[in-house]
Amino acid sequence: MTRFVDVRNMVRWTAASGVENIISGMIGYLEEDFKRWEEFDKTPRVASHTSFGVIELMPTSDGETYGFKYVNGHPANPARGFQTVTAFGVLADVHNGYPTFLTEMTLLTALRTSATSVMFAKKLARSDSKVMAMIGTGTQSEFQALGFRAGLGISTLRIWDTDPQAMEKFVANMEPLGFDITVASSAQDAVQGADVITTCTADKANATILSADLIAPGVHLNAIGGDCPGKTELDAAILDLGEVFVEFPEQTRIEGEIQQMPADFPVTEFWKVLCDQAPGRTSDEQITIYDSVGFAIEDFSALRYIRDAVEGTDYFTELDLVADPANPKDLFGLLAAFAPVGS
Ligand code: NAD
Repeated sequence: MTRFVDVRNMVRWTAASGVENIISGMIGYLEEDFKRWEEFDKTPRVASHTSFGVIELMPTSDGETYGFKYVNGHPANPARGFQTVTAFGVLADVHNGYPTFLTEMTLLTALRTSATSVMFAKKLARSDSKVMAMIGTGTQSEFQALGFRAGLGISTLRIWDTDPQAMEKFVANMEPLGFDITVASSAQDAVQGADVITTCTADKANATILSADLIAPGVHLNAIGGDCPGKTELDAAILDLGEVFVEFPEQTRIEGEIQQMPADFPVTEFWKVLCDQAPGRTSDEQITIYDSVGFAIEDFSALRYIRDAVEGTDYFTELDLVADPANPKDLFGLLAAFAPVGS
């Protein structure tokens, strides 16, 4: 049987466990997997682009467990009543190829994206960071805010979105949870005095939501919205201001902010920072940039985390997903119970 976490159980589990607790726990799993980076099968995700958006498959394996996520990215979806990003994911046993775990991943992706951002920021943001600017207050934003409070203690936010209703929603969701929020009048206004800047917008365009003159010394940029060919958020000149940290360069060069730069543009692979093979932040004045696109190993860690967390609980059901005849060569025999079978 394959264990299955549906939307209802994902919501029950998240609400009962607490978003900040989950993100903190998930960071542990992410760090574990990033530290054994070289054990994984790695490939840029397989993307099917259309004028509507993109549908992607994100596979990886550590030799014992195989995992993949199905995810879409459709920036025009909210205007049509659909979400920009939805997802589901699977873990399977490598030894026989059977799927062992299946779960919704729309919520889980928001949690894992925040956990990954925080894992990077814990190494790259200044340790005295107090204020975060958030450009884009859509689906991912609350999860990002909660993650940064859990991981870095940041609870002062300056927000900006071109959609005033998205900012109202953010304030209504977050103010009751104790955040001190300033609604800015522009992206330029939002980044004033910020130690960390999270960009989390969705537009299938080479947008420039921030220009280089707005980035102060010492800032950490958590740039998560540009994650597709032809979809970037930052003025290319920002990437020359500091050190750019990435997940898997082969994928980031196709999808990230650095798609705007030459193919040999220097970047640091974050796993090397975690393994003390490369420096993270080197001074209080340095500008650090996490060019986030989301990589399969992060989904693998998130899948492992929830699989282990729901063990022994009623937050999953079992699915009869694999046709499994007693005689493995007699698949046809399964049909006998439903005779006639010949026509
Ligand atoms: P969303 O559509 O729910 O929210 C995006 C918000 O950006 C909207 O509120 C929109 O009004 C705002 N926006 C658009 N253009 C803007 C601009 N120029 N200035 C200010 N605000 C602007 O999308 P979401 O699910 O929150 O995702 C946001 C982005 O993050 C998407 O591009 C998505 O593909 C990406 N994403 C990346 C990762 C990752 O791992 N890096 C994971 C999940 C989502």
